[in-house]
Amino acid sequence: MDSLSRIHDNEKSNEVSSNKNLVLRNNSPKFATQLIIMKIQTNKVVTLNYTLKNSEGEVLDTSEGRDPLVYLHGVGGLIPGLEAELEGKEKGNSFNTVVAPEDAYGVRREELLHVVPKSGFQGDEEMQLGMQVQLETEQGPAIATISEIEGDNVTLDLNHPLAGTELHFEISVMDLRDATDDEISHGHVHGPGGHQH
Ligand SMILES: [Zn+2]
Repeated sequence: MDSLSRIHDNEKSNEVSSNKNLVLRNNSPKFATQLIIMKIQTNKVVTLNYTLKNSEGEVLDTSEGRDPLVYLHGVGGLIPGLEAELEGKEKGNSFNTVVAPEDAYGVRREELLHVVPKSGFQGDEEMQLGMQVQLETEQGPAIATISEIEGDNVTLDLNHPLAGTELHFEISVMDLRDATDDEISHGHVHGPGGHQH
C-alpha cells in the first residue's frame, strides 16, 4: 500500500499531522488521480463490527466485546442481503441496513413443522417449549426447535430460528484487504478470525 492510501485509511491516527505535509507537497492533479481507494468486492477479505437487532430493537447478535467478524466477500459467506449492501463499501464506512427475510434466512415455511410422538426421542431430559433438538434427516443432521407439546406429541420446527425475521444491522467496516490465492481457492479466510490451517 502506498503512503497516500495510508493517509486515506488512517485519517484518525497520529500520522495525520505529518502526512498532511506530504499532501501539500504533492497536491498536483496528476498525483491525485493515482489515489486508489479499495472497495469491497468479490475476493476481498473484510473485517466488520456489527450489531444485529430484530424489528423490536432486541439485540440478536453482536461483535461488541468479541472479535470482529472476518469473511471472504462474494462467496456466499454472509446472508445475501448483507453482502449486497456491503458491495462497494470502503474501510471506515459505517451504516445501518434492514434486510428482508427473503434476503436473509428465508420466510417461515409451514411444511417445516413436523408433529412426532414423544416416544421417538432418546434421553432423559424433559422436553420443553423452545428447546432445540438434533435430528437425523435424509439430508443429514438438522437442528429443530420444539414449538408445541400436546399430549404424547411434540411439534418440531425445522425453520431456521431467524426465518421470517427482518434483520436490522449496524455495520462498521474495520478493515479490507485482498484475499490470498490460498484463501480464494479454499473459499474462506485464513489467519486471525478465519481458519487456522
Ligand atoms: Zn483454508
